[in-house]
Amino acid sequence: MLHVDLFSVYLAVIASGLALSLVWLVVARTFPTLYAARYWFGGALAAGVGSALSLWRGAVDPMVPIVLGNGMILIGSGLGWAGVRELNRRSAPLLIILGITASAVVALSITTVLYDSSHFRIVILSAAQSVLIGWAVVDILDRRTGGRSLGCLIAAGACGVLLLLNAARSVFAVLAVSGELPLATPSPMQAGLVLLVAMFGALVCQFGFLLMTMDRLQAEMVQLAGMDDLTGVANRRRFLSVCEQECIRSIRTGRPFSVMVIDIDRFKAINDGYGHAAGDEFLKLLARTARAHLRGQDLLARLGGDEFSVLMPETSGENATKSANRLVAAIREVTLSRDGATVGSTISVGVAEWTPAVGNDPCVLLELADRALYLTKNGGRDGVTVAPSSPVQVGEPLAA
Ligand code: GH3
Ligand code: MG
Repeated sequence: MLHVDLFSVYLAVIASGLALSLVWLVVARTFPTLYAARYWFGGALAAGVGSALSLWRGAVDPMVPIVLGNGMILIGSGLGWAGVRELNRRSAPLLIILGITASAVVALSITTVLYDSSHFRIVILSAAQSVLIGWAVVDILDRRTGGRSLGCLIAAGACGVLLLLNAARSVFAVLAVSGELPLATPSPMQAGLVLLVAMFGALVCQFGFLLMTMDRLQAEMVQLAGMDDLTGVANRRRFLSVCEQECIRSIRTGRPFSVMVIDIDRFKAINDGYGHAAGDEFLKLLARTARAHLRGQDLLARLGGDEFSVLMPETSGENATKSANRLVAAIREVTLSRDGATVGSTISVGVAEWTPAVGNDPCVLLELADRALYLTKNGGRDGVTVAPSSPVQVGEPLAA
Protein backbone atom coordinates (compact mmCIF):
# COMPACT_ATOMS: atom_id res chain seq x y z
CA MET A 1 0.00 0.00 0.00
CA LEU A 2 1.18 3.51 -0.76
CA HIS A 3 2.19 5.59 2.27
CA VAL A 4 1.34 9.23 2.63
CA ASP A 5 4.42 11.17 1.65
CA LEU A 6 4.35 14.24 3.91
CA PHE A 7 6.70 16.20 1.68
CA SER A 8 4.32 15.84 -1.31
CA VAL A 9 1.29 16.77 0.80
CA TYR A 10 3.07 19.92 2.00
CA LEU A 11 3.96 20.77 -1.59
CA ALA A 12 0.28 20.42 -2.56
CA VAL A 13 -0.74 22.70 0.33
CA ILE A 14 1.85 25.33 -0.68
CA ALA A 15 0.83 25.14 -4.35
CA SER A 16 -2.88 25.53 -3.56
CA GLY A 17 -2.16 28.50 -1.23
CA LEU A 18 -0.10 30.25 -3.89
CA ALA A 19 -2.63 29.44 -6.66
CA LEU A 20 -5.47 30.85 -4.54
CA SER A 21 -3.48 33.99 -3.81
CA LEU A 22 -3.04 34.41 -7.57
CA VAL A 23 -6.82 34.07 -8.09
CA TRP A 24 -7.52 36.70 -5.42
CA LEU A 25 -4.83 38.98 -6.85
CA VAL A 26 -6.60 38.92 -10.22
CA VAL A 27 -10.00 39.51 -8.54
CA ALA A 28 -8.54 42.41 -6.51
CA ARG A 29 -7.03 44.02 -9.61
CA THR A 30 -10.21 43.54 -11.65
CA PHE A 31 -12.44 45.01 -8.91
CA PRO A 32 -10.24 47.65 -7.20
CA THR A 33 -12.95 48.67 -4.72
CA LEU A 34 -13.50 45.08 -3.55
CA TYR A 35 -11.12 45.36 -0.59
CA ALA A 36 -12.08 41.90 0.73
CA ALA A 37 -10.21 40.38 -2.22
CA ARG A 38 -7.01 42.12 -1.03
CA TYR A 39 -7.33 40.52 2.40
CA TRP A 40 -8.02 37.10 0.89
CA PHE A 41 -5.04 37.52 -1.45
CA GLY A 42 -2.83 38.33 1.57
CA GLY A 43 -4.36 35.49 3.57
CA ALA A 44 -3.78 32.83 0.89
CA LEU A 45 -0.23 34.12 0.30
CA ALA A 46 0.59 34.11 4.03
CA ALA A 47 -0.78 30.58 4.42
CA GLY A 48 1.21 29.39 1.36
CA VAL A 49 4.46 30.97 2.57
CA GLY A 50 3.84 29.73 6.14
CA SER A 51 3.39 26.16 4.83
CA ALA A 52 6.57 26.53 2.75
CA LEU A 53 8.51 27.57 5.87
CA SER A 54 7.09 24.57 7.75
CA LEU A 55 8.76 22.32 5.18
CA TRP A 56 12.17 23.20 6.61
CA ARG A 57 11.52 21.35 9.85
CA GLY A 58 14.73 19.62 10.98
CA ALA A 59 16.83 21.39 8.37
CA VAL A 60 17.06 24.86 9.92
CA ASP A 61 16.65 26.48 13.35
CA PRO A 62 13.20 25.29 14.63
CA MET A 63 12.15 28.89 15.25
CA VAL A 64 11.78 29.35 11.47
CA PRO A 65 9.46 26.46 10.53
CA ILE A 66 7.63 26.21 13.84
CA VAL A 67 7.27 29.77 15.06
CA LEU A 68 7.55 31.87 11.89
CA GLY A 69 5.82 29.28 9.65
CA ASN A 70 2.87 28.76 12.00
CA GLY A 71 2.69 32.50 12.73
CA MET A 72 2.24 33.10 8.99
CA ILE A 73 -0.45 30.42 8.78
CA LEU A 74 -2.31 32.15 11.66
CA ILE A 75 -2.00 35.51 9.90
CA GLY A 76 -3.47 33.79 6.82
CA SER A 77 -6.51 32.60 8.81
CA GLY A 78 -6.89 36.05 10.37
CA LEU A 79 -6.83 37.78 6.98
CA GLY A 80 -9.54 35.34 5.82
CA TRP A 81 -11.72 36.65 8.66
CA ALA A 82 -10.75 40.26 7.86
CA GLY A 83 -11.93 39.70 4.26
CA VAL A 84 -15.34 38.51 5.47
CA ARG A 85 -15.68 41.61 7.70
CA GLU A 86 -14.70 43.85 4.82
CA LEU A 87 -17.24 42.16 2.51
CA ASN A 88 -19.88 42.80 5.21
CA ARG A 89 -18.80 46.48 5.21
CA ARG A 90 -17.48 46.26 8.77
CA SER A 91 -14.04 47.28 9.99
CA ALA A 92 -11.27 44.69 9.59
CA PRO A 93 -10.19 43.49 13.08
CA LEU A 94 -6.46 43.77 12.36
CA LEU A 95 -5.44 44.54 15.97
CA ILE A 96 -7.29 41.48 17.30
CA ILE A 97 -5.69 39.31 14.61
CA LEU A 98 -2.23 40.67 15.44
CA GLY A 99 -2.85 40.23 19.17
CA ILE A 100 -3.95 36.59 18.82
CA THR A 101 -1.07 35.80 16.44
CA ALA A 102 1.52 37.52 18.67
CA SER A 103 0.28 35.63 21.77
CA ALA A 104 0.41 32.33 19.88
CA VAL A 105 3.90 33.13 18.55
CA VAL A 106 5.18 33.84 22.09
CA ALA A 107 3.60 30.62 23.41
CA LEU A 108 5.02 28.64 20.45
CA SER A 109 8.49 30.11 21.08
CA ILE A 110 8.37 29.08 24.76
CA THR A 111 7.25 25.53 23.87
CA THR A 112 10.01 25.32 21.25
CA VAL A 113 13.00 26.85 23.01
CA LEU A 114 12.41 26.61 26.77
CA TYR A 115 10.14 23.60 27.09
CA ASP A 116 10.06 21.57 23.90
CA SER A 117 6.61 20.01 23.52
CA SER A 118 5.01 19.33 20.14
CA HIS A 119 1.74 18.40 21.93
CA PHE A 120 1.43 21.79 23.61
CA ARG A 121 2.31 23.47 20.34
CA ILE A 122 -0.58 21.64 18.63
CA VAL A 123 -2.99 22.81 21.34
CA ILE A 124 -1.72 26.43 21.15
CA LEU A 125 -1.93 26.53 17.37
CA SER A 126 -5.37 24.88 17.24
CA ALA A 127 -6.78 27.22 19.90
CA ALA A 128 -5.48 30.39 18.20
CA GLN A 129 -6.70 29.29 14.77
CA SER A 130 -10.09 28.22 16.15
CA VAL A 131 -10.67 31.65 17.70
CA LEU A 132 -9.96 33.34 14.34
CA ILE A 133 -12.03 30.86 12.32
CA GLY A 134 -14.86 30.85 14.89
CA TRP A 135 -15.14 34.64 14.72
CA ALA A 136 -15.13 34.43 10.92
CA VAL A 137 -18.07 31.95 11.05
CA VAL A 138 -20.07 34.39 13.19
CA ASP A 139 -19.49 37.13 10.60
CA ILE A 140 -20.14 34.82 7.64
CA LEU A 141 -23.54 33.84 9.08
CA ASP A 142 -24.49 37.42 10.02
CA ARG A 143 -28.11 37.73 8.85
CA ARG A 144 -27.81 41.50 8.43
CA THR A 145 -25.41 40.89 5.55
CA GLY A 146 -27.13 38.01 3.78
CA GLY A 147 -25.54 35.24 5.86
CA ARG A 148 -27.87 32.54 4.51
CA SER A 149 -26.74 32.57 0.88
CA LEU A 150 -25.24 29.41 -0.62
CA GLY A 151 -21.73 30.95 -0.58
CA CYS A 152 -22.06 31.81 3.12
CA LEU A 153 -23.30 28.33 3.99
CA ILE A 154 -20.46 26.67 2.04
CA ALA A 155 -17.81 28.93 3.63
CA ALA A 156 -19.26 28.45 7.12
CA GLY A 157 -19.50 24.65 6.61
CA ALA A 158 -15.86 24.47 5.51
CA CYS A 159 -14.81 26.57 8.52
CA GLY A 160 -16.81 24.12 10.67
CA VAL A 161 -14.73 21.22 9.24
CA LEU A 162 -11.53 23.13 10.13
CA LEU A 163 -12.81 23.81 13.65
CA LEU A 164 -13.64 20.12 14.19
CA LEU A 165 -10.22 19.19 12.88
CA ASN A 166 -8.50 21.57 15.30
CA ALA A 167 -10.59 20.27 18.19
CA ALA A 168 -9.75 16.64 17.29
CA ARG A 169 -6.03 17.43 17.00
CA SER A 170 -6.04 19.16 20.39
CA VAL A 171 -7.89 16.31 22.11
CA PHE A 172 -5.47 13.77 20.64
CA ALA A 173 -2.48 15.90 21.66
CA VAL A 174 -3.73 16.26 25.27
CA LEU A 175 -4.56 12.56 25.58
CA ALA A 176 -1.15 11.67 24.18
CA VAL A 177 0.59 13.90 26.77
CA SER A 178 -1.24 12.21 29.62
CA GLY A 179 -0.20 8.87 28.15
CA GLU A 180 -3.76 7.63 27.79
CA LEU A 181 -3.65 7.23 24.03
CA PRO A 182 -0.44 5.80 22.64
CA LEU A 183 -2.00 5.73 19.17
CA ALA A 184 -2.06 9.53 19.21
CA THR A 185 1.68 9.64 18.63
CA PRO A 186 1.91 11.51 15.33
CA SER A 187 2.54 9.23 12.36
CA PRO A 188 3.11 10.30 8.73
CA MET A 189 -0.28 8.79 7.85
CA GLN A 190 -2.14 10.77 10.53
CA ALA A 191 -0.28 13.99 9.79
CA GLY A 192 -0.93 13.52 6.06
CA LEU A 193 -4.66 13.02 6.63
CA VAL A 194 -4.80 16.10 8.84
CA LEU A 195 -3.09 18.16 6.15
CA LEU A 196 -5.43 16.85 3.45
CA VAL A 197 -8.54 17.63 5.49
CA ALA A 198 -7.14 21.10 6.28
CA MET A 199 -6.46 21.69 2.58
CA PHE A 200 -9.95 20.47 1.65
CA GLY A 201 -11.52 22.79 4.26
CA ALA A 202 -9.43 25.78 3.18
CA LEU A 203 -10.17 25.24 -0.54
CA VAL A 204 -13.92 24.79 -0.03
CA CYS A 205 -13.92 27.84 2.27
CA GLN A 206 -12.25 29.93 -0.45
CA PHE A 207 -14.85 28.68 -2.94
CA GLY A 208 -17.53 29.91 -0.52
CA PHE A 209 -15.76 33.30 -0.35
CA LEU A 210 -15.77 33.43 -4.15
CA LEU A 211 -19.54 32.76 -4.25
CA MET A 212 -20.10 35.40 -1.55
CA THR A 213 -18.10 37.86 -3.67
CA MET A 214 -20.20 37.07 -6.76
CA ASP A 215 -23.39 37.66 -4.73
CA ARG A 216 -22.02 41.00 -3.55
CA LEU A 217 -21.02 42.11 -7.07
CA GLN A 218 -24.41 41.08 -8.42
CA ALA A 219 -26.21 42.99 -5.66
CA GLU A 220 -24.09 46.06 -6.45
CA MET A 221 -24.95 45.76 -10.16
CA VAL A 222 -28.66 45.58 -9.37
CA GLN A 223 -28.31 48.62 -7.09
CA LEU A 224 -26.38 50.60 -9.72
CA ALA A 225 -28.93 49.74 -12.41
CA GLY A 226 -31.61 51.34 -10.22
CA MET A 227 -29.65 54.41 -9.15
CA ASP A 228 -29.42 57.95 -10.52
CA ASP A 229 -25.69 58.59 -10.81
CA LEU A 230 -25.83 62.35 -10.14
CA THR A 231 -27.88 62.38 -6.94
CA GLY A 232 -27.52 58.77 -5.74
CA VAL A 233 -31.31 58.39 -5.31
CA ALA A 234 -33.36 55.78 -7.20
CA ASN A 235 -33.87 56.26 -10.93
CA ARG A 236 -37.08 56.09 -12.95
CA ARG A 237 -36.67 52.37 -13.70
CA ARG A 238 -36.35 51.47 -10.00
CA PHE A 239 -39.21 53.81 -9.05
CA LEU A 240 -41.60 52.23 -11.58
CA SER A 241 -40.64 48.73 -10.52
CA VAL A 242 -41.14 49.42 -6.77
CA CYS A 243 -44.33 51.38 -7.52
CA GLU A 244 -45.71 48.44 -9.49
CA GLN A 245 -45.10 46.14 -6.51
CA GLU A 246 -46.85 48.67 -4.27
CA CYS A 247 -49.86 48.79 -6.67
CA ILE A 248 -50.08 44.98 -6.56
CA ARG A 249 -49.91 45.07 -2.75
CA SER A 250 -52.68 47.67 -2.59
CA ILE A 251 -54.90 45.61 -4.93
CA ARG A 252 -54.44 42.71 -2.47
CA THR A 253 -54.88 44.67 0.77
CA GLY A 254 -57.15 47.49 -0.41
CA ARG A 255 -54.93 49.96 1.51
CA PRO A 256 -53.85 53.04 -0.43
CA PHE A 257 -50.45 54.60 -0.89
CA SER A 258 -49.45 57.90 -2.49
CA VAL A 259 -46.91 59.35 -4.85
CA MET A 260 -45.55 62.88 -5.22
CA VAL A 261 -44.08 64.31 -8.39
CA ILE A 262 -41.73 67.24 -7.75
CA ASP A 263 -40.37 69.70 -10.31
CA ILE A 264 -37.94 72.52 -9.55
CA ASP A 265 -39.33 75.94 -10.41
CA ARG A 266 -37.42 77.93 -13.02
CA PHE A 267 -34.47 75.57 -12.85
CA LYS A 268 -33.19 76.73 -16.22
CA ALA A 269 -32.46 80.12 -14.61
CA ILE A 270 -29.92 78.46 -12.24
CA ASN A 271 -28.20 76.71 -15.16
CA ASP A 272 -28.19 79.88 -17.25
CA GLY A 273 -27.17 82.22 -14.43
CA TYR A 274 -24.57 80.17 -12.55
CA GLY A 275 -23.63 77.33 -14.90
CA HIS A 276 -24.58 73.69 -15.31
CA ALA A 277 -22.35 72.65 -12.37
CA ALA A 278 -24.35 74.91 -10.03
CA GLY A 279 -27.54 73.33 -11.43
CA ASP A 280 -26.11 69.88 -10.66
CA GLU A 281 -25.24 70.99 -7.12
CA PHE A 282 -28.80 72.22 -6.62
CA LEU A 283 -30.19 68.87 -7.82
CA LYS A 284 -27.99 67.10 -5.24
CA LEU A 285 -29.00 69.57 -2.54
CA LEU A 286 -32.66 68.95 -3.31
CA ALA A 287 -32.15 65.18 -3.10
CA ARG A 288 -30.34 65.50 0.28
CA THR A 289 -33.00 67.83 1.69
CA ALA A 290 -35.87 65.65 0.51
CA ARG A 291 -34.23 62.53 1.97
CA ALA A 292 -33.80 64.27 5.31
CA HIS A 293 -37.49 65.23 5.40
CA LEU A 294 -39.02 61.95 4.22
CA ARG A 295 -39.66 58.81 6.25
CA GLY A 296 -37.33 55.84 6.02
CA GLN A 297 -39.83 53.79 4.01
CA ASP A 298 -40.48 56.52 1.42
CA LEU A 299 -38.67 56.00 -1.88
CA LEU A 300 -37.18 59.14 -3.44
CA ALA A 301 -36.33 58.92 -7.14
CA ARG A 302 -35.14 61.25 -9.89
CA LEU A 303 -37.38 60.73 -12.90
CA GLY A 304 -35.11 62.82 -15.14
CA GLY A 305 -33.95 66.44 -15.57
CA ASP A 306 -35.25 68.49 -12.63
CA GLU A 307 -38.15 66.14 -11.93
CA PHE A 308 -38.23 63.91 -8.83
CA SER A 309 -40.85 61.57 -7.37
CA VAL A 310 -41.57 60.04 -3.98
CA LEU A 311 -43.37 56.78 -3.30
CA MET A 312 -45.05 56.87 0.10
CA PRO A 313 -46.25 53.43 1.22
CA GLU A 314 -49.28 53.16 3.53
CA THR A 315 -49.95 56.90 3.14
CA SER A 316 -53.24 58.58 2.27
CA GLY A 317 -53.34 61.47 -0.20
CA GLU A 318 -54.11 63.78 2.73
CA ASN A 319 -51.00 62.78 4.69
CA ALA A 320 -48.86 62.83 1.56
CA THR A 321 -50.04 66.40 0.94
CA LYS A 322 -48.95 67.38 4.47
CA SER A 323 -45.48 65.89 3.81
CA ALA A 324 -45.34 67.63 0.44
CA ASN A 325 -46.14 70.98 2.04
CA ARG A 326 -43.36 70.46 4.61
CA LEU A 327 -40.96 69.64 1.77
CA VAL A 328 -41.97 72.73 -0.22
CA ALA A 329 -41.30 74.87 2.89
CA ALA A 330 -37.93 73.18 3.48
CA ILE A 331 -36.72 73.67 -0.10
CA ARG A 332 -37.63 77.37 0.10
CA GLU A 333 -35.02 77.67 2.88
CA VAL A 334 -32.08 75.82 1.30
CA THR A 335 -29.54 77.67 -0.85
CA LEU A 336 -26.12 77.26 -2.44
CA SER A 337 -23.36 79.85 -2.48
CA ARG A 338 -22.03 80.57 -5.96
CA ASP A 339 -19.60 83.40 -6.85
CA GLY A 340 -20.69 85.30 -3.74
CA ALA A 341 -24.34 84.95 -4.70
CA THR A 342 -27.01 82.89 -2.97
CA VAL A 343 -28.62 80.38 -5.31
CA GLY A 344 -31.99 78.95 -4.40
CA SER A 345 -35.32 77.98 -5.88
CA THR A 346 -38.71 76.55 -5.01
CA ILE A 347 -40.52 73.38 -6.03
CA SER A 348 -43.94 72.53 -7.38
CA VAL A 349 -45.52 69.26 -6.29
CA GLY A 350 -48.37 67.09 -7.50
CA VAL A 351 -49.75 64.36 -5.22
CA ALA A 352 -51.84 61.35 -6.23
CA GLU A 353 -53.29 58.57 -4.08
CA TRP A 354 -53.66 55.02 -5.36
CA THR A 355 -57.28 53.94 -5.90
CA PRO A 356 -58.58 50.64 -7.33
CA ALA A 357 -59.16 52.54 -10.62
CA VAL A 358 -55.37 52.93 -10.97
CA GLY A 359 -54.91 49.15 -10.93
CA ASN A 360 -51.38 47.86 -11.20
CA ASP A 361 -50.02 50.40 -13.68
CA PRO A 362 -47.64 52.82 -11.92
CA CYS A 363 -47.60 55.05 -15.02
CA VAL A 364 -51.30 55.85 -14.47
CA LEU A 365 -50.56 57.07 -10.95
CA LEU A 366 -47.53 59.05 -12.11
CA GLU A 367 -49.58 60.69 -14.81
CA LEU A 368 -52.24 61.72 -12.27
CA ALA A 369 -49.55 63.23 -10.03
CA ASP A 370 -47.90 64.86 -13.04
CA ARG A 371 -51.12 66.54 -14.06
CA ALA A 372 -51.66 67.76 -10.49
CA LEU A 373 -48.10 69.12 -10.62
CA TYR A 374 -48.89 71.17 -13.70
CA LEU A 375 -51.90 72.63 -11.92
CA THR A 376 -49.44 73.83 -9.25
CA LYS A 377 -47.23 75.30 -12.00
CA ASN A 378 -50.21 77.06 -13.58
CA GLY A 379 -51.32 78.29 -10.17
CA GLY A 380 -48.04 80.20 -9.65
CA ARG A 381 -45.61 77.41 -8.57
CA ASP A 382 -44.08 76.88 -5.05
CA GLY A 383 -46.96 74.75 -3.77
CA VAL A 384 -48.81 71.44 -3.77
CA THR A 385 -51.88 70.15 -5.65
CA VAL A 386 -53.52 66.83 -4.92
CA ALA A 387 -55.16 64.89 -7.75
CA PRO A 388 -58.85 64.12 -7.16
CA SER A 389 -59.29 60.69 -5.59
CA SER A 390 -62.29 59.82 -7.79
CA PRO A 391 -61.31 57.52 -10.66
CA VAL A 392 -59.93 59.64 -13.47
CA GLN A 393 -59.25 58.33 -16.93
CA VAL A 394 -55.76 59.08 -18.10
CA GLY A 395 -55.92 61.59 -20.91
CA GLU A 396 -59.00 63.27 -19.43
CA PRO A 397 -58.12 66.81 -18.17
CA LEU A 398 -58.16 67.53 -14.42
CA ALA A 399 -60.29 70.37 -13.18
CA ALA A 400 -58.17 73.27 -11.90
P1 GH3 B 1 -40.52 75.33 -14.68
O1 GH3 B 1 -40.74 76.14 -13.47
O2 GH3 B 1 -41.61 75.52 -15.68
O3 GH3 B 1 -40.27 73.88 -14.37
O4 GH3 B 1 -39.21 75.91 -15.34
P2 GH3 B 1 -37.85 75.19 -15.55
O5 GH3 B 1 -36.85 76.21 -15.93
O6 GH3 B 1 -37.50 74.38 -14.40
O7 GH3 B 1 -38.19 74.31 -16.79
P3 GH3 B 1 -37.96 72.82 -16.98
O8 GH3 B 1 -38.40 72.06 -15.78
O9 GH3 B 1 -38.57 72.41 -18.29
O10 GH3 B 1 -36.38 72.79 -17.11
C1 GH3 B 1 -35.61 71.71 -16.85
C2 GH3 B 1 -34.18 72.09 -17.12
O11 GH3 B 1 -33.33 71.21 -16.44
C3 GH3 B 1 -33.80 71.97 -18.58
C4 GH3 B 1 -32.47 71.30 -18.60
O12 GH3 B 1 -31.50 72.12 -19.21
C5 GH3 B 1 -32.13 71.16 -17.16
N1 GH3 B 1 -31.50 69.88 -16.84
C6 GH3 B 1 -31.93 68.64 -17.16
N2 GH3 B 1 -31.10 67.70 -16.65
C7 GH3 B 1 -30.12 68.37 -15.99
C8 GH3 B 1 -28.96 67.96 -15.26
O13 GH3 B 1 -28.67 66.77 -15.09
N3 GH3 B 1 -28.19 68.92 -14.70
C9 GH3 B 1 -28.49 70.26 -14.86
N4 GH3 B 1 -27.68 71.14 -14.30
N5 GH3 B 1 -29.55 70.67 -15.58
C10 GH3 B 1 -30.36 69.75 -16.12
MG1 MG C 1 -38.59 72.73 -13.67
